[in-house]
Amino acid sequence: MNQNLQQKTASNSPPVYNGGITIKSERELQAMRRAGAIVAETIAVLKQTAKPGTTTGRLDQIASREIRKRGAVPTFKGYRGFPGSICASVNEEIVHGIPGGRILEDGDLLKVDVGATIDSFIGDSAVTIGVGNISEEAAELIEVTEQSLYEGIAAAIDGARTGDIGHAVEQYAVSRGYGIVTEYVGHGIGRFLHEDPQVPNYGPAGRGAKLKKNMTIAIEPMVNIGGGKTRLLPDLWTVVTADGSLSAHFEHTIAINKGKAEILTKIQ
Ligand code: MG
Ligand code: MG
Repeated sequence: MNQNLQQKTASNSPPVYNGGITIKSERELQAMRRAGAIVAETIAVLKQTAKPGTTTGRLDQIASREIRKRGAVPTFKGYRGFPGSICASVNEEIVHGIPGGRILEDGDLLKVDVGATIDSFIGDSAVTIGVGNISEEAAELIEVTEQSLYEGIAAAIDGARTGDIGHAVEQYAVSRGYGIVTEYVGHGIGRFLHEDPQVPNYGPAGRGAKLKKNMTIAIEPMVNIGGGKTRLLPDLWTVVTADGSLSAHFEHTIAINKGKAEILTKIQ
């Protein structure tokens, strides 16, 4: 990376991502821990407020307030023109749902995806929340999707490859009869929301970019009760399952270590 160019752009205009994998310094990791903690705290508040009768727009307001009162900014607001501070996707909506007037109903499966930027670094995390009383099949989908994320995190160690993560996620979810979304993937993250490498939720193992200590990536399995195929709604943001089946999504931003990866999007 060209140091002079970075310094120059930093003082004049927002930095521009020129591609490539970035290894974070300890100071940069500290900023990412702060960003990650703010995301985790915001998600904890959303879990408390996502009840039947609440709108997704209200959750967006609450998230924005929680992020800003901690000195950060909502990363997604205005990202490629995205209108919300968070993504809120319900039932067959997989990701990138736009918050608005939709009223949450008992039994809904709500996915919230939250990004926060502080000191120029970003945290990105998503959870699936059962609204009120959810069906047994929805509860099982949530459980398997969350566990598939942790299987992926367990595979994300120094020297492994992105394909090892995807393989672990896919094996876990597919062996339980679910469909994995392949058209959207996890990603490197740091100063920019989407950096290299891509982190697919499918194999094969042993392929893809090599993971190195202090690389930071977001792993984010999207798992459907039906098939993995997706469709884009006319708003050009909301991604839904092609077959209308329920979908779940979990995501953490992590830092690669020699051993177990460090989850950055957690309450410190
Ligand atoms: Mg996200
Ligand atoms: Mg992400």
